[in-house]
Amino acid sequence: GIQNESFIATKVSQYSCQRKTTLNNYNKKFTDAFEVMAENYEFKENEIFCLEFLRASSLLKSLPFSVTRMKDIQGLPCVGDQVRDLIEEIIEEGESSKVKEVLNDERYKAFKQFTSVFGVGVKTSEKWYRMGLRTVEEVKADKTLKLSKMQKAGFLYYEDLVSCVSKAEADAVSLIVKNTVCSFLPDALVTITGGFRRGKNIGHDIDFLITNPGPREDDELLHKVTDLWKKQGLLLYCDIIESTFVKEQLPSRQVDAMDHFQKCFAILKLYQPRVDNSTCTMSKKLGMAEVKDWKAIRVDLVITPFEQYPYALLGWTGSRQFGRDLRRYAAHERKMILDNHGLYDRRKRIFLKAGSEEEIFAHLGLDYVEPWERNA
Ligand code: ATP
Ligand code: MN
Ligand code: MN
Repeated sequence: GIQNESFIATKVSQYSCQRKTTLNNYNKKFTDAFEVMAENYEFKENEIFCLEFLRASSLLKSLPFSVTRMKDIQGLPCVGDQVRDLIEEIIEEGESSKVKEVLNDERYKAFKQFTSVFGVGVKTSEKWYRMGLRTVEEVKADKTLKLSKMQKAGFLYYEDLVSCVSKAEADAVSLIVKNTVCSFLPDALVTITGGFRRGKNIGHDIDFLITNPGPREDDELLHKVTDLWKKQGLLLYCDIIESTFVKEQLPSRQVDAMDHFQKCFAILKLYQPRVDNSTCTMSKKLGMAEVKDWKAIRVDLVITPFEQYPYALLGWTGSRQFGRDLRRYAAHERKMILDNHGLYDRRKRIFLKAGSEEEIFAHLGLDYVEPWERNA
């Protein structure tokens, strides 16, 4: 075609770590549809089909043109029969009846609501669905349910947490995190990771990586930071997971495994001065309830030893699909095992040290991909 004449499909890699994927998505119509299908399969715990649609979504996000004819996807990897049929339907009808069916499905709608609550996954959703529950309101009203501490916080701050975090809010929280960490460890390095590092301007949470250059490590840092926030009344929820890292242990080969760093899943209270303070005065005069001047924000804090920092940075920057493909590429194309702690060369039987993300890509024999090109 004219628009993609210079685009040679045979050059496209099946691995998203060999592609550049910016936030500039020319195929949102298709990738949104794929993501609904993937999510539905995730709710049904069908990992294979879920991954098939996630990979296809990733691939179309990396194309430098909009797909308008079946010919445009000729020779591309990651396009199986299910995916091809869906693309054909959307090209011909403008929308997909299969996707519409999922969006209207009672089970999908209930799981979508349940999993939007912090601390609620597919397993809990399954349980609630089997009990006949269908909405967040119904779960909230059911006083017989035994909720975890995490889920209780999830319901308590539900409205704030489902409204996404903005870049401005991320910057404000970033200042708080940096100031608090540096009051205990002046040389500490605090870096925003996750979606915001990839250039997104909204997110569901804010992810931070903390390390202290030099040999000094402080196992108490996360506790000191969260204790101070507690004293200041800024900590709405906090769950500290202690480190489970064992030296010399081979990296996990599981593609979606959690890492072993000490970390904290928290909800912070971010004060937001109201732009319109007449509403405030008015409500006070009228004896109305105090206007809420803060927002609950989900924050992830991860502490890493300095020598593992580049690996942790690569892992926590994501996207999830990009990370999965890096690990799959390492295993299948290089006989290496990659995780958030390091890279193990199975042929040489050694761990490969890296001082930067660039060095990790080089160890893997990959061209460097910038964080904003990892939106796979
Ligand atoms: P969002 O804007 O929705 O927050 P995100 O890309 O920042 O998008 P997160 O779920 O915050 O998504 O995760 C950021 C990155 O950290 C992802 O690549 C994910 O794979 C990784 N990650 C998230 N949770 C863990 C965990 N518990 N252990 C290891 N890695 C994790
Ligand atoms: Mn995030
Ligand atoms: Mn996160």
